[in-house]
Amino acid sequence: MSEKGEKSSSLDIFQLLEETTEKEKKKQREELLAPSGVSEFFVDGSITIDKRTCQGIECKLCVEVCPTNALFWRAGEVGITEELCVYCGACVLSCIVEDCIKIVRKRETGEVESFSKPRQVVVLQHRTNARKRLERIQNIFPKLENYLKRYGKSWSCVYATKTEL
Ligand code: SF4
Ligand code: SF4
Repeated sequence: MSEKGEKSSSLDIFQLLEETTEKEKKKQREELLAPSGVSEFFVDGSITIDKRTCQGIECKLCVEVCPTNALFWRAGEVGITEELCVYCGACVLSCIVEDCIKIVRKRETGEVESFSKPRQVVVLQHRTNARKRLERIQNIFPKLENYLKRYGKSWSCVYATKTEL
């Protein structure tokens, strides 16, 4: 086999191994998450907790709100089972210390979101909800004319504002 051929086949093998590992990882996560009934909305992510600023002994709020039991309390501090985290942000939203829990997550679209403060979670939720509402409106009324036909001119400004979001 030529040097070029060897190089390309070894690259294929590495790619294949990487894809298999990813598939296995995904399958394992699905199995682990199945009992909680929680769905995944992000293709990748990471979570960290700053043990120096965590006030765990006084609150443990993040442990209580986590829908998948990815967080647990052990030996006086919060632990994370990364395989169970779906990067929903509920823990950041409830944490009493800003920048203590940090989450970075990636959507299917490739969009990456990073946050560590409750208000950032709220802003992200508003933005996601606004986008979903707009998608629904655009599905029902693909063109402005469709919208005007149903609601008349008085509402055209609403449609125009939403499509500009
Ligand atoms: S909510 Fe925040 S401060 Fe409280 S235990 Fe969890 S990480 Fe620590
Ligand atoms: S982001 Fe926080 S609350 Fe959500 S699953 Fe992960 S650890 Fe649990």
